[in-house]
Amino acid sequence: MSDAGTMTTKTNPLQHVTEQLNELRAKGVAPKLHVLEGEQRPVCVFDGREVINLASNNYLGLTSDKRLRKASIEAVRKYGVGAGAVRTIAGTMKLHMDLEEQIAKFKNVEACVVFQSGFTANAGTVSAVLGKEDLIVSDELNHASIIDGARLSKATIKVFKHKDVQDCERILQEHANFPGKKLIITDGVFSMDGDIAPLPQLCDLAEKYGCIMMVDDAHASGVLGRGGRGTIDHFNCHGRVHIQVGTLSKAIGSMGGYVCGSRDLIDFLYLRARPFLFSTSHPPATAAACQAAFALLDSPEGEKLVKKLWANTKFFKKELKKRGFQFKSSETPIVPIHVGEGAKAFEFSRKLFEAGVFAPAVGYPTVAEGKARLRAIVSAAHKREHLLKAAEVLGEVGIGLGVV
Ligand SMILES: *Cc1c(COP(=O)(O)O)cnc(C)c1O
Repeated sequence: MSDAGTMTTKTNPLQHVTEQLNELRAKGVAPKLHVLEGEQRPVCVFDGREVINLASNNYLGLTSDKRLRKASIEAVRKYGVGAGAVRTIAGTMKLHMDLEEQIAKFKNVEACVVFQSGFTANAGTVSAVLGKEDLIVSDELNHASIIDGARLSKATIKVFKHKDVQDCERILQEHANFPGKKLIITDGVFSMDGDIAPLPQLCDLAEKYGCIMMVDDAHASGVLGRGGRGTIDHFNCHGRVHIQVGTLSKAIGSMGGYVCGSRDLIDFLYLRARPFLFSTSHPPATAAACQAAFALLDSPEGEKLVKKLWANTKFFKKELKKRGFQFKSSETPIVPIHVGEGAKAFEFSRKLFEAGVFAPAVGYPTVAEGKARLRAIVSAAHKREHLLKAAEVLGEVGIGLGVV
């Protein structure tokens, strides 16, 4: 030990980081980042190896769509590469306002605000709308950005069992005399299991107990509902959800998040959502790509793309089932293949990768300890031959590891 004021012993104040890292490495749950060379496509090159890509959220193949690309390039030519300020100072371009109006129309709501990401949309909105005197009732598998937003709000947080409407009602009954505002919040599609929230029943509860209803439709935007209009459209719950969040980073193919709701909600978020106030707005190229994506979704071709996504999903799941895989929960293009132990899931993923299929392992803290899995995501851009080949390889490697 060194005495205060002397510099005899050199200590590393970040020693704990090194120790924790070494522990993770020893357990085999510290995978390296996979580096993509070239475009995000259904077949692409990661770490120098060509693989069938079941790892991205590029549901409709729009990350490399020629129309989005063209819109982006034109925006760069016309408007440059940056917005130059936060939205509330000088960073609101006409492109941003046009995109918000376009999304609001698409989602059949009064108004929309676009954020830099889905993460900031959730975190910024929950913390702006709720305060420490309020109650948040949240599905246990909700996304990290909802959890962080809930914590930032300082509201009381109560978690209901996954998709369990009765458990949600139990909490609301126990808080019948709670003086503050109440929010029920759920993912529309759950990102790690691919299942869909019981939205109509949760809306019933929100109406019965006077709650605000909020849905995070990150994995449903461009996937569920007519032309990918989301969970609300899928269940025909129009007008029953006060706050709808979506992402522009998954099926929409670019980057960003948005909140849809009443004009007043959006005008309030313009004034109080901290990522909107304190972080610079999208560059023109991003806003323009998103506009092109929604124009596409709003056309017959968009509907066709969404249908293709679902046809591919059905085909891939059928091929996997034939090979003994079960995925009890999935109702969407997200296909979780349960393994259990973290290290085994990472081994499975590594062996698949070596055999030309990229399906990432997901372990703690993304999912609970002991619930590690592979997560495969189907895209409309996959060809049948890709999906068939991927299912064959999954079957072979899965058998080798005793997973099926
Ligand atoms: C991906 C995701 C987000 C975050 O969206 P980004 O635009 O990538 O920040 C939020 N919620 C859910 C449920 C997600 O799956």
